[in-house]
Amino acid sequence: MSTEVASKEILRGGQFLVKETSCDDVFTLEDLSEEQKMMRDSTKEFVDREIWAHWERFEGKDYAFTAETMRKAGELGLLGIAVPEEYGGMGMGFVSTMLVCDYISGATGSFSTSFGAHTGIGTMPITLYGNEEQKKKYVPKLASGEWLGSYCLTEPGAGSDANSGKTKAVLSDDGKYYSITGQKMWISNAGFCNLLIVFARIEDDKNITGFIVENDPENGITMGDEEKKLGIHSSSTRQVFFNETKVPVEDMLSERGNGFKIAMNALNVGRIKLAAACLDAQRRVIGEAVNYANERIQFKTPIINFGAIKAKIAEMATNTYVGESGSYRAAKNIEDRISIRVAEGNSHQEAELKGVEEYAIECSILKVAVSEHVQFTSDEGLQIYGGMGYSAEAPMESAWRDSRIGRIYEGTNEINRMLAVGMLVKKAMKGHVDLLGPATAVGEELMGIPSFDAPDFSELFAEEKDLVARLKKVFLMVAGSAVQKFGPELEKHQQLMMAASNILIEVYMAESTILRTEKNAKRFGEESQATQIAMAKLNLYNAVDVILKSGKEAIVSFAEGDEQRMMLMGLKRFTKYTNNPNVVALRTQIADKVAADNGYTFD
Ligand SMILES: Cc1cc2nc3c(=O)[nH]c(=O)nc-3n(C[C@H](O)[C@H](O)[C@H](O)COP(=O)(O)OP(=O)(O)OC[C@H]3O[C@@H](n4cnc5c(N)ncnc54)[C@H](O)[C@@H]3O)c2cc1C
Repeated sequence: MSTEVASKEILRGGQFLVKETSCDDVFTLEDLSEEQKMMRDSTKEFVDREIWAHWERFEGKDYAFTAETMRKAGELGLLGIAVPEEYGGMGMGFVSTMLVCDYISGATGSFSTSFGAHTGIGTMPITLYGNEEQKKKYVPKLASGEWLGSYCLTEPGAGSDANSGKTKAVLSDDGKYYSITGQKMWISNAGFCNLLIVFARIEDDKNITGFIVENDPENGITMGDEEKKLGIHSSSTRQVFFNETKVPVEDMLSERGNGFKIAMNALNVGRIKLAAACLDAQRRVIGEAVNYANERIQFKTPIINFGAIKAKIAEMATNTYVGESGSYRAAKNIEDRISIRVAEGNSHQEAELKGVEEYAIECSILKVAVSEHVQFTSDEGLQIYGGMGYSAEAPMESAWRDSRIGRIYEGTNEINRMLAVGMLVKKAMKGHVDLLGPATAVGEELMGIPSFDAPDFSELFAEEKDLVARLKKVFLMVAGSAVQKFGPELEKHQQLMMAASNILIEVYMAESTILRTEKNAKRFGEESQATQIAMAKLNLYNAVDVILKSGKEAIVSFAEGDEQRMMLMGLKRFTKYTNNPNVVALRTQIADKVAADNGYTFD
């Protein structure tokens, strides 16, 4: 680890809300090392050659082809990026892991789901929680693609309430094995996996326990038929039935009752990787859509010349740029946190677990934001194709269907929205993030007389950064008052939690985008970043709208009379532009650049 990382104070998870971050301290896609760029390029080549070129087979529910392509990815080392070298992987850092997840996911959601299920929730529980024997026995096979993995948590009666599963694990009389019986549902990779991470309950334990189970039909494991799904057509998804499946006691993962923790931590990593996995999908959709818009003639002109189409292209590109900014900022925070812990003497395993756990709030924020972006982008992509967008012969139809799953798995977006705010409040209560001090200061500011000095906003992003600082105050005002009012009961006020979460998400994504762009403008020159500056401004404008709506909704739901009036005044003050941006001009500028490049070229 560089001494620079060790000596620099790195923001803790959730602290972005109460501490200012300098643009020099955020990692951006433009900071990739030569090695990382090579990794990205070879991943892109693999996707073009092995996935995009066979798009029809993936759409045709060719599950065997998905498995074969996964094995090819394994031969190239792409399944072992995050796996330590001693277990047959490449042992690369978190940013590189994110990069591969990002660029391998562009061509079809089928492959990205299979890849995510195998490398993330199928392999990570063993690398993070397995003992030495388990890691030596299973991880090299998973890293090379010789074996494919799956993760069996969900049951017919246990979805979001994941710890309520009924699958049982009973210890044999001789104490040598557990006998697992139960039904799992929606299991990705089930049709071709060799290994399953299975969660089951021992006796009447409060929490479930994790097990590593080899897929052996002779051992009481049967599969349901392939689910008939809206999208991700060649990602295998089946029910898995266990009927007295014998699992040696040495294949228990971690300790008895630790399964829920394992499941949740695996999902934390999965969430930020899911955000990454939605990025290249958007870049490809934009590429196809703008290409179509450049060529499609209506009313004697390419449709790209219509303002209505330009607005779509601009918003699609902006979303993608915003998603990249937040995802790679958080990825590097995680990587640095892991390095710090390793330097402090933690094992790599322990460091990685704690590193990701630290940024669980950001992982949830990113999962929600980027999965919603990809759905928006593919929907607008389809619209740009018009009638052809509705045709299964053209790529938009499957992109649209594939994008829909992102809001459902790895914890639904409702659950992740509530988690993000809930975790932040818990961190504040534990003293890890000081929300109370800043929230009290905001309260005092509201009582005071606002300054009427004309601010100097002449520098790049001066107004936008001032606005982001005020948007943070909206969250502190709303969440601070809500916590005071409801205390631990706050989580029962779900609509309020959702509104607060919307504010939190917009703040993180807008700040990340501005900081990335400011950093690049400083080092590469403002002129070279003209479009990116426009995207950062357009996104902030949109974020302010969301925050105004969500903030108002929250305030009128729990404050009355003078308190309500004061908070609504604060909301107005904290969301006010001195100079309103001309969003039409911004969108036109962005769309013109994307149209001229015939694709998304900001990564
Ligand atoms: C294609 C696909 C692949 C999948 N792959 C896997 C896999 O590999 N392994 C695995 O274990 N699982 C997998 N899943 C399961 C997935 O994780 C679950 O579907 C998801 O967690 C939601 O659970 P559920 O479907 O039971 O919905 P439910 O939990 O029944 O939720 C239904 C609705 O209620 C909302 N809701 C639920 N609880 C609350 C609450 N407390 N407050 C507010 N709203 C709430 C949800 O947000 C949702 O909108 C997969 C699912 C799909 C569709």
